[in-house]
Amino acid sequence: MRTSIATVSLSGSLTEKLTAAASAGFDGVEIFENDLLASPLTPEEIRARTADLGLTVDLYQPMRDIEAVPPKEFERNLRRAEHKFRLMNRLGTDTVLVCSSVSPLAVDDDALAAEHLHRLAESAQEHGVRVAYEALAWGRHVSTYEHAWRIVEAAGHPALGTCLDSFHILARGCDPKGIEAIPGEKIFFLQLADAPLMAMDVLQWSRHYRCFPGQGGLDVTGLVRHVINAGYTGPLSLEVFNDVFRQADAGPTAVDARRSLMLLQEAAGIAAPPAPVQPTGFAFAELTTPDAGAVSSLLGALGLARTARHRSKPVELWQRGDARILVTTDPVRHRDGLALAALGLESPDPVGAAARAESLLAPVLPRHRAPQDAPLDAVAAPDGVEIFFCATDRAGLPNWREDFPPLTGAGDGAGDGAADRDSRGAVLRIDHLALTQPWHQFDEAALFHRTVLGLRPQESVDVADPYGLLRSRAVTNDDGRVRIALGIGAGPADDAGRAQHIALATDDVVAAARDFQDAGGRPLPVPPNYYDDLAARFEFAPGEAETYRELGILYDRDEHGTFRHFYTETVGRVFFEVVQRDGGYRGYGAQNAPVRLAAQHALRPGRR
Ligand code: MG
Ligand code: MG
Repeated sequence: MRTSIATVSLSGSLTEKLTAAASAGFDGVEIFENDLLASPLTPEEIRARTADLGLTVDLYQPMRDIEAVPPKEFERNLRRAEHKFRLMNRLGTDTVLVCSSVSPLAVDDDALAAEHLHRLAESAQEHGVRVAYEALAWGRHVSTYEHAWRIVEAAGHPALGTCLDSFHILARGCDPKGIEAIPGEKIFFLQLADAPLMAMDVLQWSRHYRCFPGQGGLDVTGLVRHVINAGYTGPLSLEVFNDVFRQADAGPTAVDARRSLMLLQEAAGIAAPPAPVQPTGFAFAELTTPDAGAVSSLLGALGLARTARHRSKPVELWQRGDARILVTTDPVRHRDGLALAALGLESPDPVGAAARAESLLAPVLPRHRAPQDAPLDAVAAPDGVEIFFCATDRAGLPNWREDFPPLTGAGDGAGDGAADRDSRGAVLRIDHLALTQPWHQFDEAALFHRTVLGLRPQESVDVADPYGLLRSRAVTNDDGRVRIALGIGAGPADDAGRAQHIALATDDVVAAARDFQDAGGRPLPVPPNYYDDLAARFEFAPGEAETYRELGILYDRDEHGTFRHFYTETVGRVFFEVVQRDGGYRGYGAQNAPVRLAAQHALRPGRR
């Protein structure tokens, strides 16, 4: 189906909005009146600009407070409408949105509303225009789609139909099943928006919290199925406004918007992009840094060993068990000190995984590779982190490890300080990665990881940070071998709330913490108050809590099991965590995150 987006959904000037919509691949736009009024372009110039960009103007919106008003008021409204119809002719669009009246002058009289809309449609028809009547959820007398349709039906004019808006319908808890009773040709337009489930005034909810389909809690897909069953053939159009999009760049927002519509069509059975290929594990995490010194000591203290070096690039492979960390000192790729720049995901079908990502508008990364490198498919996530789809050591598939000849004398778990360690407390694999998202891209990132990568979202949690609030949402694969905690925090890019981390799994965190400290590693100091509280909340074996206190180990428990973990100091934008999950614990120690954040803030220069 054709896709469209309301200009009110994007930030910037009208020209910027049109360009962003076209670049993201939309077929058309709804022009919001205020965008036109604020534009220096004439309606003819806007028409030419949209045509040059390959866009159609699918709707002009909105016209308000037209119907069921006193006679003098209505005559004034008709004159105002005729002016708009002429403007629409210049703009090259033939459908106008009329919202149900919120005017205090409007009366509760369906027959009068139908008569007025009939006369409006009569005038519209003379100008070659159609009127799409929409029930606002907060309309004075008409606030449901069924009611709006009854009035449209009673008016009985060919130039009058209805406009359905998923937000107005679902926010009021209306059953969308009744849409199938409306003849498809009388549904002149369909506007789509989702919203997180919140208990608040519906007008405020609509104005500030709408989001793209799939990013909230409304069943937009179900509604679209009913609209399709009714026989609607017009565009799927996004009308989404919220406080975040108003401030975010139009380009990425438009891509996020279009991806959400593609996924909606997939869910509704209207389109079939390549199927998702769920990753089965982490192949590697890649850190970039101008200077590998500090991170090398940290990795060494954590028991990883430098085992291999890329044959042609300044990249070293550090490894213990299945935990593989690449450290790149490529001067082009390090921007802000040590950063988590890429991750490799084990994929049963790397080519298929990349094809899905590409079809859902993930930027495909150029392969700046030496002729002998394994061809790895990679895309950029919304936060710019590069995602490689890998088949590590699997016969018949390109193997990135072949580009890393082993360093002499180094094998798994050997070399660089890890050689003399026994396996108790050894790092086994990457448990999770925590990726901090730009504040305006949180919902986009969650949608990307869920739908493009095929991961499952978990509950969103809010964590108190001494200098703000950290929101976090984890996505995982089915067996928990891939866990990514997406977070947003306020504050500057180098602040604790914005740091990324790599969590390494062990089956003996106490031994791991001792080994780490014996090897010169410094754990993040945890305040004594934390341990006093811990002893009050949980019952421990004699000496257990004292061990945690001594080693800086934090503790959590859920209905499945326990979680024990410690953190390293932060280098650049990255720190490490070593975790032990027992009994099927599913979380990430969210209980302890405020303590961790406060401790990290306290270590920053100038804070105490
Ligand atoms: Mg609407
Ligand atoms: Mg963590």
